[in-house]
Amino acid sequence: MVNLAQEPQGVAPKAPPVDAIWEALRQVMDPEIPVLSVVDLGIITGVEVSPDQSVIVRMTPTFAGCPAIRLMEKQVGEAVEQLGYTQVQVETDFSVTWNSNRISDHGREIIRHFGLAPPPKHNGEPDLDRLKHTECPYCASANTTLKTPFGPTLCRSMHYCFDCLQAFEQFKPV
Ligand SMILES: [Zn+2]
Repeated sequence: MVNLAQEPQGVAPKAPPVDAIWEALRQVMDPEIPVLSVVDLGIITGVEVSPDQSVIVRMTPTFAGCPAIRLMEKQVGEAVEQLGYTQVQVETDFSVTWNSNRISDHGREIIRHFGLAPPPKHNGEPDLDRLKHTECPYCASANTTLKTPFGPTLCRSMHYCFDCLQAFEQFKPV
């Protein structure tokens, strides 16, 4: 392992393009859904590399109550450092409001395979009636009911499917 921080000044790390940073960020997972990357979650709003090889990654916080954001910020910084960058700043981007529509289609598939109902896309306001009949991630039935809007984490609601008789959680639309 080469410690780039100890190389003489002026020797910039080999400069991978911004694309390489996005690729590295695809390896950083949401701690609550460890198969869903922060990129598919839609919380990375920008990546910049300055001429002096310092990197700024901007992230928008998801749910205000989700403690995972601090951990994700740390992991995002580390993922970029592993590419050889020594000056990495992870900034919270308040100019972009995260909502569940920012989750990529690929991300929704991943959430479903994980056994969670992905949040339905909406036009501004999540539709509470639709939340009551969330499609079951196991059998795709809509014959379901909302048990409680408060699941084991603030980000999830609890549901029950009358067709396959299984309880399931939904990644709450916001
Ligand atoms: Zn079902």
